Amino acid sequence: MSIAQNIQHIQTGLPPTAHLVAVSKTFPESHIEQAYAAGVRDFAENKVQELVRKYEILPKDIRWHFIGHLQTNKIKYIAPFVHLIHGVDSLKLLVAINKEAAKYGRVIPCLLQFHIAQEDTKFGLTLAESEELLQSEEYKTLHHVEIHGVMGMASFTNNEAQVSREFATLAEIFNTLKQRFFADKPYFAERSMGMSHDYHIALQHGATLLRIGSSIFGTR
Ligand SMILES: *Cc1c(COP(=O)(O)O)cnc(C)c1O
Repeated sequence: MSIAQNIQHIQTGLPPTAHLVAVSKTFPESHIEQAYAAGVRDFAENKVQELVRKYEILPKDIRWHFIGHLQTNKIKYIAPFVHLIHGVDSLKLLVAINKEAAKYGRVIPCLLQFHIAQEDTKFGLTLAESEELLQSEEYKTLHHVEIHGVMGMASFTNNEAQVSREFATLAEIFNTLKQRFFADKPYFAERSMGMSHDYHIALQHGATLLRIGSSIFGTR
């Protein structure tokens, strides 16, 4: 199947509340152009240098998402244009993003990344850590970042019950934070969960942003 057919296939099965983010990391610009021609405007990368290169070459109405582990010294390269940073897992990183966003007079939308998988290789906060972050005095001084929701990666396993439990945990974390910290903030609405192999399960738990790469572009 072509990239356009893959996109068509995925989009057809999505509820109106779920939005496709095409994960284009490692794929060439020509692949992104095909997805763009098929109507996709949201693309995600996990390397700053690659993201900047693609941003410079490709159409300016693309919304670029950053989904990798972001080093503080590299924020400055994406701060002028990045649409959403998915993987914020510390106050320190949020402070650094805020500082670079201020230089461009921007408010950069971010998601808090949570550790929901069994594997200890995956980054992310616990609920308690996120509450500490959101209650801190320093967080309250950050006017150039906005927390738009949560992000998480389930364990890489064929055990669907386990993946389902992990996404359910993330959905619960979202509800808890919404209630305690963002009840009057309509922008706190995103649940970034689900990749090529598990997005059907993520949809059952209210995913609003699906980060899908290989099911669109092929294997890396
Ligand atoms: C690569 C990546 C994806 C997409 O994975 P696929 O299996 O290609 O769909 C989603 N989220 C993150 C954080 C990634 O690094």
